[in-house]
Amino acid sequence: MADSTVSAHPAEPTHHAERPVYVIGGGPGGLATAYALRAKGLRAVVLERSDHVGASWRRHYDRLHLHTTRRLSALPGLPMPRRFGRWVARDDVVRYLEKYAEYHELEVVTGVEVSRVEGTADGTGWLLHATGGRELTGAAVVVATGYNHTPRIPDWPGRATYSGEFLHAGDYRNAKPFADRDVLVVGVGNTGAEIAVDLVEGGAARVRLSVRTAPHICRRSTAGWSAQQTAILVRRLPVRLVDRLAVPLAKLSVPDLSAQGLPRPDTGLYSRVVEEGAIPVQDVGLIDAVRRGRVEVVSAVESFEDGKVVLAGGGPISPDAVIAATGYTRALDDLVGHLDVLGAHGMPVVNGARTPKNAPGLYFTGFVTPISGTFRELAADAEKIAKAIAKDTGCQVSRLPA
Ligand SMILES: Cc1cc2nc3c(=O)[nH]c(=O)nc-3n(C[C@H](O)[C@H](O)[C@H](O)COP(=O)(O)OP(=O)(O)OC[C@H]3O[C@@H](n4cnc5c(N)ncnc54)[C@H](O)[C@@H]3O)c2cc1C
Repeated sequence: MADSTVSAHPAEPTHHAERPVYVIGGGPGGLATAYALRAKGLRAVVLERSDHVGASWRRHYDRLHLHTTRRLSALPGLPMPRRFGRWVARDDVVRYLEKYAEYHELEVVTGVEVSRVEGTADGTGWLLHATGGRELTGAAVVVATGYNHTPRIPDWPGRATYSGEFLHAGDYRNAKPFADRDVLVVGVGNTGAEIAVDLVEGGAARVRLSVRTAPHICRRSTAGWSAQQTAILVRRLPVRLVDRLAVPLAKLSVPDLSAQGLPRPDTGLYSRVVEEGAIPVQDVGLIDAVRRGRVEVVSAVESFEDGKVVLAGGGPISPDAVIAATGYTRALDDLVGHLDVLGAHGMPVVNGARTPKNAPGLYFTGFVTPISGTFRELAADAEKIAKAIAKDTGCQVSRLPA
């Protein structure tokens, strides 16, 4: 990984042809885009706020494996090694991202957090404000700071004064600290479901899972055919049609867990992905744990009161610890909010190869929840973004030596 020469001082005016493309964020999305730009002969500099690439993956809980397959999760220009197996472990994802940056000789500058992006005064590029008073001018900017950026905790009444142990799933590593304890996991996305199972397997005395809306659950793989492969096949079909097709499939492969508190959802599987960004829960042990009563499903958390957790329609409960698997926010407001490029829920109005009409040259990647797997879409978008930048801005971007 080469260090680029980033000035610690306000940038001197540069000739436009000397400007690189700045990629903000050294996760899979940022690295793939930097590679795709490099493959087109364009200079891309990745600015990463932490000390290493793949910072989000380094923080994820220990037992996490990709639930998308190795082959369909590789980034452009470097397959994942076969020895990583079909479902790649978190540490191997990190190894892969490190190798990816090194193998493609990407220009990555670590320890640099970009706080604000604005157009240059002459309107020919983008000015980035970053750690240590740095001001960097790029021909184009790709924001790859992650969909799962900042832990989101609902504004539950009484939460601020709750004195019990409380953490966000982003701070959960493994079950060790929870052995022999009574734990409430709040939220049943893929993360909440897997943490609940991890707690059971790791020896928690009691595990309750608080569910507001019953999720769609699917098997990660059936007879060697992955859920991701099905998702890729159906992703361009009409949403309602996929919803309908999913019903008999779910009935065939997932038992009815209504008696245990997880009825089949009323809303369609694909509708929930498209309308709410709710990816179906891939089963890595939840079905079995719920059937056996090892994970008890309880209703939504309403509030916190006198050191207890109040559930909708139920009495207060007193777990030893609460783990909020309640998602993340994009946290793009400070970075680009003033550019009028954010829509509902702080999501950028464009993603991938499109650039906002009012902010040409500003790109976003990773701000999607595709049913077909985010790594796969990040890989595809990287090449589309590089193509778009080469076409629209290419002549203003500094080029790599031939
Ligand atoms: C628990 C979990 C499991 C997942 N499993 C899968 C899976 O199996 N398959 C799949 O396809 N997808 C999966 N995803 C979704 C997605 O692929 C990952 O979140 C992936 O890491 C997204 O890549 P990214 O580059 O967009 O963002 P991130 O990996 O989050 O990378 C963003 C980077 O930007 C840096 N950064 C942030 N702000 C700044 C700033 N202002 N300045 C400089 N740097 C900054 C961060 O430090 C980070 O390194 C999973 C997500 C989660 C949360």
